[in-house]
Amino acid sequence: MGARSVDVIKAGGKIPGSSNRKVPKDFLASEIESRWSITGKQYRTCGENGILAQLKKYRPDDSYAMLCITMKDLYPGPRWAFCFGWASFNAGVGAFSFLRYDPSWLGIEDPNSEKTMLSMGCHIMCHEIGHQFGLQHCIYYECLMNGVNGADE
Ligand SMILES: [Zn+2]
Repeated sequence: MGARSVDVIKAGGKIPGSSNRKVPKDFLASEIESRWSITGKQYRTCGENGILAQLKKYRPDDSYAMLCITMKDLYPGPRWAFCFGWASFNAGVGAFSFLRYDPSWLGIEDPNSEKTMLSMGCHIMCHEIGHQFGLQHCIYYECLMNGVNGADE
């Protein structure tokens, strides 16, 4: 039996549709290039040792896309300070971090921190999933697919 419409695979969990393949329990630490920044350890999303390239190995054969969701900080490559997430338009893989939406990470006391983090983070997570389905940044409407990289977006 293959994957359902949405499957959650935790690190160390079995890949749906496979006999016994698993995502490594320490996927980020063992397989992904990382660096230290002034804000702490970050994991790379792009490049051959980045999350997107390595995640392809674990994507179920009959799936459309797989998104790595983490509380670790991410960066696309050496010329970037960080990113909230990154996704491929055509490889069916992406990565997203909730870390920078956590009020406590920002040094803000918030009695509703989990709610704040989820409501803000889920917006961008859905944006990244949109990219996985081939959607580019929208410049015509105020919508989920607006970009955040410049005034023209
Ligand atoms: Zn985007």
